[in-house]
Amino acid sequence: LPEKRVAILGSTGSIGVAALDVVRHLGSPFRVTAISAHKSADKLIEQLDRHGPAAVAITGGEVPDALRAACKSRGASLLTGPDALVEIVNRDDVDVVLNAVVGAAGLPASLAAVNAGKPLLLANKESLVVAGRLLIDAARDRGVPILPIDSEHSAVFQAIQCGRRDEIRRVILTASGGPFRTWPVDKIDDATPADALKHPTWRMGGKITIDSATMFNKSLEVIEACWLFDLPVEQVDVVIHPESIVHSMVEFVDGSTLAQLSPPDMKMPIQYALTYPHRKPGLARAMDWSKRQVLHFDPPDLERYPALRLGYDAARAGGTTLAAALNAANEVAVDAFLSGKIRFGAIWRTVEQTMKRHAVQALPTMADLLEADRWARAETARAIADCPLPTAG
Ligand code: NDP
Ligand code: MG
Repeated sequence: LPEKRVAILGSTGSIGVAALDVVRHLGSPFRVTAISAHKSADKLIEQLDRHGPAAVAITGGEVPDALRAACKSRGASLLTGPDALVEIVNRDDVDVVLNAVVGAAGLPASLAAVNAGKPLLLANKESLVVAGRLLIDAARDRGVPILPIDSEHSAVFQAIQCGRRDEIRRVILTASGGPFRTWPVDKIDDATPADALKHPTWRMGGKITIDSATMFNKSLEVIEACWLFDLPVEQVDVVIHPESIVHSMVEFVDGSTLAQLSPPDMKMPIQYALTYPHRKPGLARAMDWSKRQVLHFDPPDLERYPALRLGYDAARAGGTTLAAALNAANEVAVDAFLSGKIRFGAIWRTVEQTMKRHAVQALPTMADLLEADRWARAETARAIADCPLPTAG
């Protein structure tokens, strides 16, 4: 088998760490040749010692001496600064790019992978939310696969192989409903970061955990699904499924629904993206059918989850700048919430306000999208500074 040399971008995060385990478990022909972090230098040094990549990138702020020394003694190249991820992607010893960076910061590397003709294993859903049309068009032009790692999209990708494109009636993305699924709706506005970080079924990075509590995560995933599977938003539905066992479903025109089930563990979709079109024994457990399993499904309540309504608004605006504005506003609002600057209920309200003020542009270029991202960040930060904690409505 030809070697598959993998770059794991965001290797110090929740997905990145799981991906390192999966690649180590799979062994030949897979090998990690590059890793990256934003600031977690100590974790990066540990990963360098354990996985022996040829290249290490650190993108945020100061580069600690200990990291320089560790790279030197291991003979690994150290890349720093804002372009480090793109440099990693373009290295000759990288065949496959696994993007597990959080936020729109992952977009340049995604685009670079597709432009370099390297398969993109995508956890960084924000890439598709911001620049879905450009990424998908570039991938199609060059015949480069974009393989989803997001569990819902991996599930759809697996189930969709059971029918033809024109036989799909709709996809149904499942959502756990997050920690506030059973809270009285009028209490949710005042939830604390500690409340919102208590995800019922998944252990993930901070940003996506907050996104799961607001349901902006599902909003991003609806947009992600439209691009990945080339579906109009009318064919992408959401259902609340608190057990997180059914990872998503595809309904075909004859009324038959196919689903993918497994206990919640990201190692499953990470491995499938790596081994596709094959399957291999993995680290993730299978379902235990010797025990009673009770699975629930409920339609989403948009009063409880106004962020989902905003996501559908952005998805309906298709490949415009609106989704980029939503995403940027959400990134800023989540940071502000986690640092105690705004209430939980102000997250969706600030995003809505930024979306309303945004001058939506059709058929944007990459420069237009980056400008929409920049504008929405500044606008949201300004709104938050003008309207701090107690007033959110
Ligand atoms: P984490 O916060 O755990 O990890 C993020 C990674 O990206 C870290 O390595 C971090 O480095 C790095 N990073 C952070 N900011 C930047 C930046 N500005 N530039 C470059 N690198 C940066 O996130 P997750 O692993 O939870 O999520 C990663 C992506 O995968 C997200 O897009 C998320 O939506 C998606 N995803 C995650 C799932 C999960 O189960 N966690 C499930 C499905 C999708 P450092 O450690 O130094 O901060
Ligand atoms: Mg998901």
